[in-house]
Amino acid sequence: MSSYAGFDIVPRLTKGLVDKHNWEKLLRTIRERYQNDDQVEVKPNYIAFKSDPDLLLPLECHKFLRFGATIPNEDTGGLRDYIDTVSRVASCCFGSRVRDWDEGEGVPGYYALDDVKRSIRSYEQFDEPEVPTTLAQFVLGTDPIRELNLPLYEVKPVPGKGQGLVARFNIAKGQLIISEKPFFTTSNATSAAIIEKQISIELRKLPKDAQRQFLSLHNNFPGKKPFSGIVRTNALPCGPDSPIGGIYPTISRINHSCLPNAHNSWNSASGYENIYAVRFIAAGEEITIPYDHGGPSDERRRHLKSAFGFDCDCKICSRQPAELKQSDERRRQIQHLDAEIGNALRLMYSPGDCLKDCQALLQILGEEFEGSPGAHLARLYYDAFQICIVHGDQARARVFAERSYRARLACEGENNPETKRIQKLMEDPKMHASFGLSMKWKSLKNQVPRGLSSDEFEKWLWRQGK
Ligand SMILES: [Zn+2]
Repeated sequence: MSSYAGFDIVPRLTKGLVDKHNWEKLLRTIRERYQNDDQVEVKPNYIAFKSDPDLLLPLECHKFLRFGATIPNEDTGGLRDYIDTVSRVASCCFGSRVRDWDEGEGVPGYYALDDVKRSIRSYEQFDEPEVPTTLAQFVLGTDPIRELNLPLYEVKPVPGKGQGLVARFNIAKGQLIISEKPFFTTSNATSAAIIEKQISIELRKLPKDAQRQFLSLHNNFPGKKPFSGIVRTNALPCGPDSPIGGIYPTISRINHSCLPNAHNSWNSASGYENIYAVRFIAAGEEITIPYDHGGPSDERRRHLKSAFGFDCDCKICSRQPAELKQSDERRRQIQHLDAEIGNALRLMYSPGDCLKDCQALLQILGEEFEGSPGAHLARLYYDAFQICIVHGDQARARVFAERSYRARLACEGENNPETKRIQKLMEDPKMHASFGLSMKWKSLKNQVPRGLSSDEFEKWLWRQGK
């Protein structure tokens, strides 16, 4: 009888210096041990034991969960020997974190098989480097500030902007800054008079200090309807393009930037608005989100002035004219490419051009948002996923879904229903309703090529030279 056996490392390894150092020691030992074994090959991103396709050791330790394989009755590939040897070396480096298991002997592995498969898929691509925010995070891979559960921000006056949120500590990209329930939600689908009345009813239900907090928010529309003025100035839509808006004690105080360092998203399952850092935020820096709908600076500034009553003087809007002109050109390109990619007829009849547009957009977003396009990236990769899945290409669809998932995870968190939906599509792309409307690019989800260099992989992914 065959048996699934191997070892897991628990808890999983981090990006900290200590784990990295020990992992390098392990890789070095394995390389030396098997330098004359042509079944063991060092690839750009992992070491492959060719007797089983999943028997791999990634170069980036934080991706590793399991080293294991199904060992057939006649173990001609020497799988058992590889597993035993690597497990012994791992135990020397990581001690009791190494857990041997053997399903044939009734000892199951620690991690779920789906998680293991996902971790192995992630070996193919190197992660972008991250800046550790504290020395402890750098050395140990843990973050004592997060563990203390202190708020990462302070509400305080910001010159020229009234109140704002300012980072109390260094905040890493992808970190949740604040999660908050709204005072109440309102719909802008009714008249101002009705909204005013509804809000006064909602307000009366709130405790006194919450009422005071609400009334202290900025009102850009002073007049006879003060409550709806505050709502119009401060509401954040509950989901993209939702007519329902929420007003928040703290989140409503986050100011705008055309180059924001944070992203706001509504979690419809929990009823909370979440703010994630989309780039590294240094202690003392103001936390900002976008209020604008894109486009060149004159369009953005007009909208911001009429809807919120301020003249934007963010990092982009206050650039010198020549630089601002370049940014405006990129923003126009972004709008144009967005529209082209969203054109359903083009998606159906010129998918190759649509995919090229996605790749061009990726480049421009990177330049315009200084390497951190946040939620734009999640949407872009999802568009690329859709182009592939409509034409039956499950292999590329899976890679794009995975990238979309990772981008969304970093700016909306793992519990967001949209993140979960994309995670499911990443596991089984053909679940998408438009799968295979055409079979022009037909491929199976396990046909993602292995062992390519980064450049070769990108060329395959974007169908360059096809
Ligand atoms: Zn601006």
